[in-house]
Amino acid sequence: MPDAMLHPEFETLTPEATRRVQDDKWARQWAYVLAASDFYRDALRGVSGKAVTLDGIAELPFTGKDELRLSQERLSPFGDHIACGADRVVRVHRTSGTTGRALQVANSRRDVDTIARIGGRSQFCAGLRPGDRVVHCLNYCMWTGGVTDHMTLEETGACVVPFGVGNTRLLLDTIADLGVTAISCTPSYPALLEKLLRGEGRDPRELKLRLGLFGGEAGLDNIEFRQSMEDVWGFGVRNANYGMSEVMSNFASQCEHSNDLHFHGADAVFVELIDAAGSAVSIREGAVGELVCTHVEKECQPLLRYRTRDVVTVTGTGPCDCGRTTWRFRVTGRTDDMFNVRGINVFPTAVQTGVMSRPDLASGQFRIVLAGAGPWDRIVVRAEAAHGLDAADYAGAARALEAAIRQHAGASAEVTLLPPDSLPRTDGKTALIERTPS
Ligand SMILES: [Zn+2]
Repeated sequence: MPDAMLHPEFETLTPEATRRVQDDKWARQWAYVLAASDFYRDALRGVSGKAVTLDGIAELPFTGKDELRLSQERLSPFGDHIACGADRVVRVHRTSGTTGRALQVANSRRDVDTIARIGGRSQFCAGLRPGDRVVHCLNYCMWTGGVTDHMTLEETGACVVPFGVGNTRLLLDTIADLGVTAISCTPSYPALLEKLLRGEGRDPRELKLRLGLFGGEAGLDNIEFRQSMEDVWGFGVRNANYGMSEVMSNFASQCEHSNDLHFHGADAVFVELIDAAGSAVSIREGAVGELVCTHVEKECQPLLRYRTRDVVTVTGTGPCDCGRTTWRFRVTGRTDDMFNVRGINVFPTAVQTGVMSRPDLASGQFRIVLAGAGPWDRIVVRAEAAHGLDAADYAGAARALEAAIRQHAGASAEVTLLPPDSLPRTDGKTALIERTPS
């Protein structure tokens, strides 16, 4: 299936052959990091004389985001974890995290090429092809969702229209004028476009888009949510974009045969899973663990055993129907967003899956309200009603959503329904939790 993959020679390697590629790159990367990174020379004082292999990598300490923040306080702006001269940096991004101080993410020419290579693999897997015209509607202001995602879209050979956010009227005209076939945006954005079109008595299918590429928010692995979007727009809906900018902005995406994310980044990132105690969890079907990433190819800000705080569930390790041999996963949630309700660990993404399982009742926009410091005895949720739902039916719909949340998140919920469009939309990741004083 040569036209099914951007890099079939890599994407169909056996796990053993993939590992040989990683071992090879790691041997060079390990020597480079020790020689060039002040941050790691310090952190690895005890092991720096040894040739540590990927098999033995668990003996190295973890790296956390807070340590990178401190590193950038010590040496502004890029931190003492920079491993090359600052004059090698060709692109700078800021992390878009919702908590803590933003990180400055620096990339060299080689890093930028690696990110495009792997991100391109992701977008291609999600269905983008040469001959497509894709309009990219994420914020270009500093975060990786803008220009870096743009470069990954271009890497597929498709024609990319750099649109950014806002100006929806011009967007609708541009799609028609240029014969645009695909849109790349946040999953909540099409609802806004739909509203504008319906207000003019138009049907979203008139735009003739064949593919929707999404990222930046969780909830996309919800089949009901995707199905309802596909019904409205007539396009295929894919999660085309999973990653984190300090590691690799896009290293996983869905193919047309699976609801799960293929890991595409093995030739730049070595992945481990760990449990809550920090012990290794092997990557096999059904395994759940926090994603820990080590660069095997990175020039500017190489990271070793970086704790991403994202908890994933491994859903497949054998070959997929698309022909790729890469392992698949779903994102279960984030360790730092997790909260406890009557002894049950609840991930906001599980609540989201519950809300999105009822597109007939809810728009998909919602907030979890955590009052005070806890403990909490139920999940308090403010959710927007679906467009067209009669206000007289809100109470009944709220009870049905409570049942759906309970089913997916495992704890009781108390839902208040709000009119559609009453919660603010954001250009980047939306924080699903609102913390209030008790
Ligand atoms: Zn696949």
